[in-house]
Amino acid sequence: MSNAAGADNGLDLYVIAQQQFDRALSWMDDLKSGLIDYLVTPKRTVHVRFPIHMDDDSVQTFHGFRVLHNTARGPGKGGIRYHPDVSEHEVAALAALMTWKTALVDVPFGGAKGGVVCNPKELSRAELRRITRRFVIELGDAIGPYTDIPAPDVYTDEQTMAWVYDTFDVFHRGQNNRAVVTGKPLRLGGSLGRDAATGRGCLNATERFLEHGICKDLESLAGVSVAIQGLGNVGSNAMRLFHEAGARIVCVSDSQGGVADEDGLDPDEVLAHKTENGTVVGLPETKTITNEDLLTWDCDILIPAALESQIRQDNAANVRAKLVIEAANAPVTPDADEILQEKGVVVLPDIVANGGGVVVSYFEWVQNLENQQWPLDEVETKLKRKMETAVDAIVTRWQHVRDNSHRDDGAAPTLRDAALVEAIQRLSEVILQRDIWM
Ligand code: NAD
Repeated sequence: MSNAAGADNGLDLYVIAQQQFDRALSWMDDLKSGLIDYLVTPKRTVHVRFPIHMDDDSVQTFHGFRVLHNTARGPGKGGIRYHPDVSEHEVAALAALMTWKTALVDVPFGGAKGGVVCNPKELSRAELRRITRRFVIELGDAIGPYTDIPAPDVYTDEQTMAWVYDTFDVFHRGQNNRAVVTGKPLRLGGSLGRDAATGRGCLNATERFLEHGICKDLESLAGVSVAIQGLGNVGSNAMRLFHEAGARIVCVSDSQGGVADEDGLDPDEVLAHKTENGTVVGLPETKTITNEDLLTWDCDILIPAALESQIRQDNAANVRAKLVIEAANAPVTPDADEILQEKGVVVLPDIVANGGGVVVSYFEWVQNLENQQWPLDEVETKLKRKMETAVDAIVTRWQHVRDNSHRDDGAAPTLRDAALVEAIQRLSEVILQRDIWM
């Protein structure tokens, strides 16, 4: 598949997604011919350009897009990203990732993603509001409660989602429009538990995975040492929840560096220090470390929860954790995947490990359609069940592929291969049952 400039370094998200997909296909021999092309290409990409009146009285034209990757299993679902470097190419890769994720955690959605090229750090709240409203107006009926449902992503938040909802609602009077977007504030139909959903889902998935006993010497979180990269929404909730589950958080980091304490960090102290100082660095009675130190820390479980392409060809051999939980999207590159597999380091892939966010987004959508507000314990119980079922399906698929594929090259499947095979299989079955060809 063709790719844009920047792909040569092997870290381009589109190339990564394509390589992962191709690797998964190499374990499947029963896909209907012709289906592969349909599965790799987006169903639809909408480009919009729109002028915004800036605070300094100038007018600036912005470029936005929304990629709908596949809708065979249901309406598109995926975030809207505001970033100066966001590209159609990147968004297409993330939309495909959403297709596999929604299939795996078994929510009735397809994959989508959107973006506006802008730098939120240099925009006022009023400018962001105008950009969001105009973007939604330009998208028109490309989004909707039964067609494509956005959510927050990089540099968009519940306020952005409130603007998306309100703008869409103005143009679609007389109907319940709350299900057009998820990640909304609670009073606008947001779900209890959405904020911590990705971190909690990560915990649920990890605990279930450990119960399967695939990871040597790791059968529960009790006393297990954990390193977490990134302390945003996902990382900070994961830190708190893994600690509550009995793990010892031995080091954490943010964009400015990290801190370590072999006796275990106290999540409340870490977060209080970060709130006060803008970084975890300098937390009393801890050792200051770099992000690179964190990624190669001697620990049982490593949780990259910040950015993509953190564990690469150049540092994968130094990873000392037994298990890597991909809380971020695509933190391990395909080259690194192979190195980790050779070293016996197990990777629980992103499409299940961080699937908790989209699961609770689905719960929000259902609550909106039914005009309900589920109690927190109901959300958490249902999330746990979804995550455990997804992990069980991956493990079963992994064992099946491992035991039934006899390849000349002697290769063994990774959990990522198994997760993608499972997702592709589920989607292709739906496509064949719907008999979508004309
Ligand atoms: P966030 O913006 O809230 O937090 C990101 C964190 O990463 C920040 O603490 C930042 O300081 C840190 N960081 C940035 N650069 C770093 C570096 N070089 N080294 C160490 N830390 C660094 O983002 P988030 O919502 O927590 O998302 C994190 C990852 O999880 C992303 O890959 C995102 O796509 C993925 N994800 C998030 C959700 C969700 O519900 N928020 C769902 C699925 C996947």
